[in-house]
Amino acid sequence: MSRLIAFAAIQGGYKVVAQAEGAYQKALATYNADTKVGFPNTGYFLPVIYSLFGIKVETLEDLQEPLDIARGLLPPHVKNKTWLPFLGPLLDAGMAGIISFEVIEALRYLNEPDFYLHAEDPDIENGKLWTGAADDTIFRKRGVEFVDGSAPGFAAIVGSAPDVETAKMIIEDYQQRGLYMFLAANHNGTTLIEQLIEAKVQVGWSTRIACFGPDISSAVFALGFANRVAMAFGGIEPGDYKKMLMYNKERVFAFVNALGDVGTEWGVAAAGCVNWGFPTIADTDITQILPTGICTYEHVVAPVSHDEICAKSVEVRGLKTLVSDVDIPCAFGPAYEGERVRGADLHVQCGGGKTQCTELCKMAEMNEIEDGKVEVIGPDVTDLKEGDVFPLAIFVQVAGREFQPDFEPILERQVHHLVNYIQGIMHIGQRDISWVRVSKSGMDKGFTLKDIGVVLHAKFHQEFGKILDKVQITLYTKKADVDKLTKRARAEYKTRDERVDKMTDADVDLYYSCTLCQSFAPNHVCTVSPERTGLCGAYNWMDCKASFEINPTGPNQPIEKGECLDPVLGQWKGVNDFVYKASRGAVPLYNLYSMVIDPMTTCGCCECIAAMLPACNGVMSVGRDYAGETPCGMKFTTLAGVMGGGAQSPGFVGHSKYNITQGKFITGDGGLLRMVWMPKALKEELKERIEKRGKEMGCPDLYDMIADETVGITEEEILPWLEEKGHPALKMDSLVG
Ligand code: SF4
Ligand code: ZN
Repeated sequence: MSRLIAFAAIQGGYKVVAQAEGAYQKALATYNADTKVGFPNTGYFLPVIYSLFGIKVETLEDLQEPLDIARGLLPPHVKNKTWLPFLGPLLDAGMAGIISFEVIEALRYLNEPDFYLHAEDPDIENGKLWTGAADDTIFRKRGVEFVDGSAPGFAAIVGSAPDVETAKMIIEDYQQRGLYMFLAANHNGTTLIEQLIEAKVQVGWSTRIACFGPDISSAVFALGFANRVAMAFGGIEPGDYKKMLMYNKERVFAFVNALGDVGTEWGVAAAGCVNWGFPTIADTDITQILPTGICTYEHVVAPVSHDEICAKSVEVRGLKTLVSDVDIPCAFGPAYEGERVRGADLHVQCGGGKTQCTELCKMAEMNEIEDGKVEVIGPDVTDLKEGDVFPLAIFVQVAGREFQPDFEPILERQVHHLVNYIQGIMHIGQRDISWVRVSKSGMDKGFTLKDIGVVLHAKFHQEFGKILDKVQITLYTKKADVDKLTKRARAEYKTRDERVDKMTDADVDLYYSCTLCQSFAPNHVCTVSPERTGLCGAYNWMDCKASFEINPTGPNQPIEKGECLDPVLGQWKGVNDFVYKASRGAVPLYNLYSMVIDPMTTCGCCECIAAMLPACNGVMSVGRDYAGETPCGMKFTTLAGVMGGGAQSPGFVGHSKYNITQGKFITGDGGLLRMVWMPKALKEELKERIEKRGKEMGCPDLYDMIADETVGITEEEILPWLEEKGHPALKMDSLVG
């Protein structure tokens, strides 16, 4: 707790309470005690006092009770050097100040009935700039916007900017964010409203700039407005102090900007606002109150430069910027997800075994990235000619107060369907084996690579706004850059994969489902267990768990394993029930550990496909990046074409690369010791892990016994070689039973 601001605010509390009491005594000496007081045209009396304490102030003498409350709230005087460990006294002083401000304003209405203009907008020609408390007509019209989402919140701005240009800049920034601005008070006699008028900014409720009043006490109108929202739209009963403040903290996204020197009166106002959960962000060097407690994040943040004050305020209040439109030249939406880009319509492409195409999502520090920044480094698709291929790396950086590195894979996996949402663009795969095809029709509409970034930024905000605040995207198309990012990405994938390395299926009672791919493969359901990552390789058990945390109604649901029906093949009642439901009855059951008997369904995203090789009494596996022939008689693309639509095909199964060396890989069929053929590159990529796993399974030389395309691409070609090596599969029980 900052002793300076606490001192200033508590001093301010004393000062303001005394001012209000003085004004009240003076009024009592001038008017009858039963003289009517209140704000014009409202059924909410003095709304702060009414909402918090249930006191209906209607006459002058009714002010006595709230003033007594204010006086009673004042904490004992503190000396400048006193350290306050708790917020309590500061909050109480703040509340005393706020009550007094409302009394002061009520008395102003009594003493100077024409001080405020009773209109929505100021009358600039006649110099009547202040419109005072919003009456119920304005309130009903505007207040509802805070509830229905058309206004994300309000900025209560006190003081004035150092110059007219800065005033304009700040206000326009908030306007773009759709916020209301409640202006009050002055700094050295200058008000923000005068600056805006000079800058020819249109002011008034109609442009979301409410011109409350020239003194700090008029800032209380902002709190009165907020509490009326809570009463009218939140159903909070007047007098329910706690609920009232809680509602504001949780539902009314407001904050204070203090522009200019924060003296004792501003200090007490700021402290008062903390009760509502409204933090203060100041442009001067007042001591910060950073520890969180009442407000969502910090209570007072200072000094913040004028360039940054809007972004910082929004961040500190935990306000979510809404990016409503996806501003790209092509049509966009789930309707286009399943659309293909076929040969005749193909303009250019990347990945798909022709070039490198990589995706990586990484968490960044808040100040490290700029929200909405999209950069294409290297040639864009407009620089290419028909039929060209190009390398691509999509690097997404995300920052947020609530963001965790665990969420990276979940966002990264969204790239697939979101890019597919763009009409005329097709996306297949994930991680470092993605494939993007750009159609001629997409090019005709004006598609550029930047649009991928625009889409990711907008949709990430829309769908994951709860966990992120900033999204920046860089698209690399120069080979050296792509290779560099790919190298980094592979290290990241490895780290992610290894997070489940020490876990076993037996360790957990819950598996997770993934139905993200149902838009392409309607009956497909991945069951992700610690020892079986999703077949796309992009989701492991931990990722699904995190995804469920972010989005409890999303595509990753916990599955209670339930009764174990077959420990060898890996079948559980809970899994079957879930899959039956999630496949809408198409798949009644499947085994997690077998590719021969009732295997899992396979969708087009699979990194690898395993196939039986009956003559060798073993299996092979081929990855997406191997374009050649295989001993099962089909290339990867043919295999994926046959079973990628969500089919359950005994004898074949889609799986991730990583899964090959996981503990339960087709253990129902004999496990990794059945593996007789893999493409050389895939084998080499997994070398270390295959060696380790072979050793664990009692065959330390397994790696050297697995054939590849250099040995042969038919069963006849590889069988003699396997016999010569003494491959363990040859001595196992017959695979076909
Ligand atoms: Fe989810 Fe499976 Fe699709 Fe991966 S392949 S996104 S785990 S449904
Ligand atoms: Zn899929």
